[in-house]
Amino acid sequence: MQFFELSEYYSKLESTSSRLGMIDILKDVFKNSEKGEIDKIIYITQGVLAPPFEGVEFGLAEKMAEEAVSIATGFSKEEVNSLYKKKGDLGSVAEDLVQKSKLKRMSARKYSIGEVYDSMLKISRSSGEGSKNVKIKLLAEMIASSTPLEAKYLVRYPLGELRMGVGDATILEALSVAFTGERKLKESLERAYNICSDLGLVGAVLMEKGESGIKSFKVTLFKPIRPALAERMPTAEQILEKMHGKAAVEQKYDGFRCQAHKSGKKVQLYSRRLENITSMFPDIVRAVQTEIKAESVIFEGEALGFNEATNEFMPFQETMQRKRKHGIEEMAGEIPLHLFAFDIMFLNGEDYLNQPYEKRRKALEEVVAGSKTIKPSTRIITSSPKELDKFFEDSIEKGLEGIVAKDLESHYIAGARKFSWIKMKRSYMGKLSDTLDLVIVGYYLGRGSRSEFQFGGLLCAVYNKKRDMFETVSRIGTGFTEKQMSELKTLLDKSKVKSRPARVDSLIAPDFWVEPRYVVTVKADEITKSPTHTCGRGSKEKGGAGEEDVGYALRFPRIVGEEAVRSDKSVEDATTTQEVLEMYNNQKRVRVEDK
Ligand code: ATP
Repeated sequence: MQFFELSEYYSKLESTSSRLGMIDILKDVFKNSEKGEIDKIIYITQGVLAPPFEGVEFGLAEKMAEEAVSIATGFSKEEVNSLYKKKGDLGSVAEDLVQKSKLKRMSARKYSIGEVYDSMLKISRSSGEGSKNVKIKLLAEMIASSTPLEAKYLVRYPLGELRMGVGDATILEALSVAFTGERKLKESLERAYNICSDLGLVGAVLMEKGESGIKSFKVTLFKPIRPALAERMPTAEQILEKMHGKAAVEQKYDGFRCQAHKSGKKVQLYSRRLENITSMFPDIVRAVQTEIKAESVIFEGEALGFNEATNEFMPFQETMQRKRKHGIEEMAGEIPLHLFAFDIMFLNGEDYLNQPYEKRRKALEEVVAGSKTIKPSTRIITSSPKELDKFFEDSIEKGLEGIVAKDLESHYIAGARKFSWIKMKRSYMGKLSDTLDLVIVGYYLGRGSRSEFQFGGLLCAVYNKKRDMFETVSRIGTGFTEKQMSELKTLLDKSKVKSRPARVDSLIAPDFWVEPRYVVTVKADEITKSPTHTCGRGSKEKGGAGEEDVGYALRFPRIVGEEAVRSDKSVEDATTTQEVLEMYNNQKRVRVEDK
């Protein structure tokens, strides 16, 4: 496929207002792509060069892109910059200026997908002295022989601002339709994706090996598995009832999740968001290399600062100081980590995902036995709510977050929030005090004293996994610091889109729509029914609560934390509609019990 064809598809994607419309367009993209390029097309559509765990960054600043546009079109840097200030989108500026450029265009030069991808890789790989000019030159060369529409996406892509709002689930569904004519392969594709975290690879395997290749997809060392997630419940009785009367109950450690892959001496560590964090934790790497009894293994746990002298866990904020790029070894000395291992997914060549919990746990205990740094999570097996409550209280007393109960028979369910794991935290006791992670879908202009920042609040949504849509749940106007407001304004200006994004379901219109891309953590007093928000509206099959005209909203929502947005959560990791409905029901339950 030529890049100009892909650009035309992208232009259509940008203007479609329905998710089904998006799938239809993407299906055509995949049908028309050839072997050897489908993975690249998928990465480009995701706005990346490689899956996240490979850590490939473009390293191209806005100013460099402005200069490339200037060189390629003959307009001065000042002209480019002033048009950018007006439009707020450098891609549209490039499109406009290529159209108006009086420079002699290189005739009929058509870039293939492979050529564009390779040039972008070169841009990302060039580093050190002089790299800035190399990057500018490479981008300018491409823009100089592109059509206006191509120029738009050539500029937006390395800046990470494609603004099409395509999500992973949308791509998977489109792949299924493109190769089978139906949606029926979606589940198998999702499974393959969940165990390799590489959407490009899934597309390439589907094209080369067909359905059978996807169905026989196996865990691979050094391709991180998307983490299993826990549902939440507020009482021991409910948890045990859901788990058929008996469960393993583990301490819930509040540090950061770490997935370790080992083959011989080679060790890599991955975060909850699947970034490669190996270089940040040399102490854990050494422990996995020398203290783990397995030739090859994939296991995971929660890493936590631990004070050997006092035998105490360190608070989350202290542990988090270990997530850094500099001064790594010194910090490792100051805040030594323990890794509390809680699951194993692969052992000595064997895929363990489909083994029951108890068998995985036994293998895990054998593998970590005797290690000083890596311990199995503390747990009990119980069928008594009283015993569960006691274990929970003990965990809280030790400064931990609560417990995670695990279904004894369950498999490891990669990349999904299921009732095979159920968490219970102190915050669930009583009224709503757990935080929610919401997706920003729009923002409002400020009035009065805030108008200096021209920022007046956010329209936020939750993720309805069943529909792969974002449903609005709250307008947030308070709780921002000046710094957060100005940061939000800068970030959101760059992801502004002209109309409601196709995957956003909303009855209200903010002053500006933005591509669903950023997550904020929010606290609220209560969840209430609402006629204006779409969260939870509609039938149960579609993930709603069952009423057509009733949605759910947050009462007194406010932003928590110092950061403006959560850099560790993607929009698909946000709180789901289903979770909001559960919180609503738990709230009700507590109120009834209070009486
Ligand atoms: P939270 O903010 O509550 O940690 P989350 O969205 O990050 O939520 P959940 O699946 O909801 O993740 O909760 C499980 C998380 O708890 C895991 O991601 C893991 O990092 C952490 N954790 C700590 N101890 C355990 C344990 N024993 N078993 C499983 N997960 C644990």
